[in-house]
Amino acid sequence: MKNWDVIIIGAGVIGLSLALRLRDEHRSVLVVEKHEPAGEATHAAGGMIANCDPHTPAILQPFADASAALYPEFVHEIESESGESTDLRDVGTIAFFGRGNSPTHAAARKLSVDELRTLEPALAVETEILITCLYPDAETPLPVFKVPSVAVEMHGPPWFLPERCVDPRALGRALTKACKKRAVDFATGSEVLEVLTAAGRAMGVRTSHATYHAAAVVNCAGAWAAKILPLAIPTRPVKGQMVCVVPQTSPSSAPRIPSSGIRGSEMIRHVVRTPGIYIIPRSDGRILLGATVEDAGFDKRTDPRTIQRLYQAGLHVAPILSSTRIHDAWAGLRPGSPDNLPILGETAIPAYFAATGHYRDGIMLAPATADAMAQLITGQQPFLDLAPFSSSRFA
Ligand SMILES: Cc1cc2nc3c(=O)[nH]c(=O)nc-3n(C[C@H](O)[C@H](O)[C@H](O)COP(=O)(O)OP(=O)(O)OC[C@H]3O[C@@H](n4cnc5c(N)ncnc54)[C@H](O)[C@@H]3O)c2cc1C
Repeated sequence: MKNWDVIIIGAGVIGLSLALRLRDEHRSVLVVEKHEPAGEATHAAGGMIANCDPHTPAILQPFADASAALYPEFVHEIESESGESTDLRDVGTIAFFGRGNSPTHAAARKLSVDELRTLEPALAVETEILITCLYPDAETPLPVFKVPSVAVEMHGPPWFLPERCVDPRALGRALTKACKKRAVDFATGSEVLEVLTAAGRAMGVRTSHATYHAAAVVNCAGAWAAKILPLAIPTRPVKGQMVCVVPQTSPSSAPRIPSSGIRGSEMIRHVVRTPGIYIIPRSDGRILLGATVEDAGFDKRTDPRTIQRLYQAGLHVAPILSSTRIHDAWAGLRPGSPDNLPILGETAIPAYFAATGHYRDGIMLAPATADAMAQLITGQQPFLDLAPFSSSRFA
């Protein structure tokens, strides 16, 4: 009977990234996945690497910054190994945090309205109509006024954040390929029901079809982590609906954004975040609008009215999107935890580890999670202090 050094439960971005790192440490790895790799939250995610966001809890900030800094190297390795692009974009984020809210991250920079117009013309709403309405009887020609855009009026001053974003679906495909190339074993279509123990230590897993044995087991089962016996690692599903739009016309004939020269596939260049909606452009011309945050159990259905609301909110911030059509919509389940911080480290059962609960940031936090967890599992000192993320905080 084959024995592995480590069994990873769940082939999302966390499990796959960890599998690669463990191979770097010359450990044999089996990933057990109940469906197909990277088909759940990882497939549904937007892919923002939002380490400059003021909503990041202070305790998570060093982790977020470390992971964001690791991204170019992480992606470079996966792309070279797999031969697949992950569409890592380094253009930056334009963010509106609402009046009275400012980012505290040292890298955040406030933008003037002129800078905003130059960086992202799609967000600027020209106001000549407004001026003629205000002064319908003016006899002398009116000067051309530039007034703040609707986005600025609605959501406070704009900020530039030097953040990256990635295409999580492409990342998931590339990670899976890279893992297979690096001799990670997979058992797909196998749901882990229970972690097996002997003399109080984890020694394998039981699935619906078989049992597999290993010296250590890691629960990377995302929103489903709590279902695996014998410990309830306390994750919960937090539903997010999202919509993808594409230009109605081919990129070469797509409308030109006034005074910008930007066409079709570059309708919007930056990630744009407002309190109500975020917009994520991909290099192939797709534009994602997201996302809801819902407590809806394991329900992954989309609601047409919610999808329309997301689209309308996107149009409001970037009216250029009126020349797009809805291409696709989906919902995914983020792995939330009781305090919405990750759950990382060894559990109460020796040799049984958890790496889950990454909530809204699992794509961003994957490289640092993989490095730190691989170090912990192989008996090294993790480069980040994992103590604040221990599952013992819920005991
Ligand atoms: C709409 C939306 C937008 C998001 N946007 C972003 C973003 O912009 N940036 C960001 O950083 N994060 C974002 N996230 C969050 C991110 O997607 C998650 O934090 C991340 O994908 C979690 O990865 P994971 O590997 O833990 O979970 P998952 O990707 O869900 O993977 C868990 C895997 O475990 C498998 N599994 C579960 N139970 C079992 C079992 N018993 N046996 C075997 N296999 C099992 C599942 O099938 C699944 O493949 C978003 C999420 C959503 C839903």
